[in-house]
Amino acid sequence: MYNPKSTKAEEFIDNNEVLATLKYAEENKNNIELIDKILEKARLGKGLTHREASVLLVCENSEKNQEIFSLAKKIKQEYYGNRIVLFAPLYLSNYCVNGCVYCPYHAKNKHIPRKKMTQDEIRKEVIALQDMGHKRIAIETGEDPVNNPIEYVLESLKTIYSIHHKNGAIRRANVNIAATTVENYRKLKEAGIGTYILFQETYNKESYEKLHPTGPKHNYEYHTEAMDRAMQGGIEDVGLGVLFGLESYKYEFAALLMHAQHLEAVYGVGPHTISVPRIKHADDINPDEFDNGIDDDIFAKIIACIRIAVPYTGMIISTRESKECRKRVLELGISQISGGSKTSVGGYAEQESEEEPEETAQFDVSDRRTLDEVIKWLIELGYVPSFCTACYREGRVGDRFMSICKQQQIHKFCHPNAIMTLMEYLEDYAAEPTKLAGYKLIEKEIETIEDEKRKELTKEYLERIKHGERDFRF
Ligand code: SAM
Repeated sequence: MYNPKSTKAEEFIDNNEVLATLKYAEENKNNIELIDKILEKARLGKGLTHREASVLLVCENSEKNQEIFSLAKKIKQEYYGNRIVLFAPLYLSNYCVNGCVYCPYHAKNKHIPRKKMTQDEIRKEVIALQDMGHKRIAIETGEDPVNNPIEYVLESLKTIYSIHHKNGAIRRANVNIAATTVENYRKLKEAGIGTYILFQETYNKESYEKLHPTGPKHNYEYHTEAMDRAMQGGIEDVGLGVLFGLESYKYEFAALLMHAQHLEAVYGVGPHTISVPRIKHADDINPDEFDNGIDDDIFAKIIACIRIAVPYTGMIISTRESKECRKRVLELGISQISGGSKTSVGGYAEQESEEEPEETAQFDVSDRRTLDEVIKWLIELGYVPSFCTACYREGRVGDRFMSICKQQQIHKFCHPNAIMTLMEYLEDYAAEPTKLAGYKLIEKEIETIEDEKRKELTKEYLERIKHGERDFRF
């Protein structure tokens, strides 16, 4: 039976409740009266239930769909302003014992070169990332208790945080590794990780078991209950996601929101972020072999509906998506994007030396622009690229972060912090045209800081950044 307060996967992602939700949504997809009521509730900016949001997702009325997109844009603007946070993935090791049928790192793939970076290689990667201007990374590994034990991840985190090349620093390392124990989550928390990210891949148990035929990841319950263990281990920011293309997107959408509601119901705080990856071509993976691929229009609708359903949860999009697609969804709800990404082990340092091709890549990236190109593009689109990592360093995590978000106060911190970290980027890493565009944007943005005192302080800090000081934050 469906019970969002239960910590059992079969109860908080109850299959019958998902199916009943899909039926309810289908029956009401042209029920304008109900859709209006849901939109009225959504306009309060406090979110929607999975049932309500599922009706919006399948709504067929073009006028109402326009309202849905406009509302998503409005909520995005109110909660996140025009800031976009930048990050890059860092692949430590592609050893993996699982059999995920959509991932080229699956254990049966004998021709993909296996690589696990040494601490020295990680150092080189981090320096390459710092030289691009990155301050925030997401660590990725395959699951392999022998090659990638938790000790390896912890040691790598220490290395990553210890490197300060020129003015560079990784100030927040998020971690995307396989489901693990409460004890290991506690160790990750102690190592100072940012968000713990784990994609569910699919919430449909039957499909999940087929798509993960072998290895520890086969265990649906263990995987689905991972965020509960992470929170029990003291990790306050967790990131959800499904891999769109594996199962019906309507099923995933409803279940993803049920997962978010479950975390909120039990731990008082919903997910910090939601990622929306779509399956991509990779070494021995052909995305066309999966029946549930979604086109760009449905993808945009999913993002808009997530934005409306969980307004205070950040949304992430990676370089799996093209420049055009990213542009479209930025205004609908995305708050974080990766830039200049490499999905291969050792890809950043290799890129500099141009030694080897990317044989170890996890999937093909669509957006191949450099970080500087992405930054300039964002500025030209009117966004403020942000390298801010202040919240978690100031203890604004978990329920503290959410409560500031829900009161729509986060802007007060994020806006000046975004401006200051952009200034750091411009001073240290930007190409001349990016610098010129960035200075202009900053000049305009400072004037929009409402609190006079904070505005003056920001101006003072910006001056000091220009004179070589770093790491100011509110
Ligand atoms: N190994 C970890 C686990 O078991 O959860 C997570 C790290 S994995 C390197 C990161 C994510 O990449 C996976 O969770 C999956 O959703 C995604 N991924 C795998 N194969 C992909 C493909 N062919 N296209 C797009 N994304 C893919």
